[in-house]
Amino acid sequence: MAKDNLTAVLYGVEDLRLEQRPIPEISDNEVLLEMDCVGICGSDVHYLVHGRIGDFVVNKPMIIGHEAAGVVVKCGKNVKNLVVGDRVAIEPGVPCRLCQFCKIGKYNLCPDMVFCATPPYDGNLTKYYRHAADFCFKLPPHVTMEEGALLEPLSVGVHACRRADVGLGSEVLILGAGPIGLVTLLVAQSMGASNIVITDLSQNRLDVAKSLGAMHTVLISKDKTEEQTVKEIQGLMPNSPDKTIDCCGAESTTRLAILSTRSGGCVVIVGMGGNESKLPLINACAREVDIRGVFRYCNDYSTALALVASGKVDAKRLVTHHFDITETAKAFETSRYGHGGAIKVMIHCQPRDKNNNKPF
Ligand code: NAD
Ligand code: ZN
Repeated sequence: MAKDNLTAVLYGVEDLRLEQRPIPEISDNEVLLEMDCVGICGSDVHYLVHGRIGDFVVNKPMIIGHEAAGVVVKCGKNVKNLVVGDRVAIEPGVPCRLCQFCKIGKYNLCPDMVFCATPPYDGNLTKYYRHAADFCFKLPPHVTMEEGALLEPLSVGVHACRRADVGLGSEVLILGAGPIGLVTLLVAQSMGASNIVITDLSQNRLDVAKSLGAMHTVLISKDKTEEQTVKEIQGLMPNSPDKTIDCCGAESTTRLAILSTRSGGCVVIVGMGGNESKLPLINACAREVDIRGVFRYCNDYSTALALVASGKVDAKRLVTHHFDITETAKAFETSRYGHGGAIKVMIHCQPRDKNNNKPF
């Protein structure tokens, strides 16, 4: 096997290095993957810039990256679901499988979750990576590796729409047109939403949302009062949104989410901003607006894959930039500053399209 295991390792704030690492040994239930591509997520950039997210602190070198796809090059002796050569999307969090949350299927709440590139656990922006075989999803031949990597953010969108009970005829408000807001838009459409309004501070991102099928967009600006913005949103949805999904997490957006939602409707909070927010809770209480959290996803990867494989969701439209793993620093800079209207930046660990049956 090749000796090259070039790996992107975050040593601390503003200190991301490429270095050679040993090729990992696998256990009986794992597979060794030759990594194909890894998308950059806002959290990867956050760890680079701040060295922490809440209580998760980078205090020893950590391999970055968790939105990934690879090809199986070796199987542990207990592995039955995969064979060498299979192209897979990698669900990056492996739970304990034993605790009360795992047992009821809400494994995203497992306190012992080992999640790629959430300290202290390594991620997978590397050439060779080992992973639990049952958290790898075999891609059909017509699905590209990049689409496989995109199943990670797409699964967040699936989980958010499920938590909001989006269905036929839902009138959905999405706050935030970053990658997460946009995948939520794509999933809400595929689940049958009849009207979708999306908001953002950036007109460029709203234009992308419009091109992806958002019915209406609302530019958030300091020149409008909260009340005016609520009126503007409700003017576009005469019955007010019945499902609102906050994909920003700023205090101002969570406030807007509650105030804009129809009585009896539901607000789902995906965006993670400051630890505490001042919110109009009595307004939500007196109008029976439910407020629900979202933490990553659970049992959503296969649905995300089905949406892509069936053509119901065209996730590849979110990818704006491509870089080779040797250009990781440039890739992070592009994602961090949104250069060239960057939305999703993809890093390739192999020559592009090496493992695709059609060009991406
Ligand atoms: P992003 O920063 O790329 O997108 C956020 C968007 O919100 C941007 O387009 C920005 O212009 C807009 N925005 C920011 N502040 C705003 C404000 N005050 N009013 C209106 N718009 C505003 O991030 P992303 O990758 O799309 O992720 C969105 C959020 O979801 C982040 O907070 C991230 O941490 C969170 N997230 C949560 C989960 C989860 O499991 N709950 C999973 C993934 C991401
Ligand atoms: Zn568990």
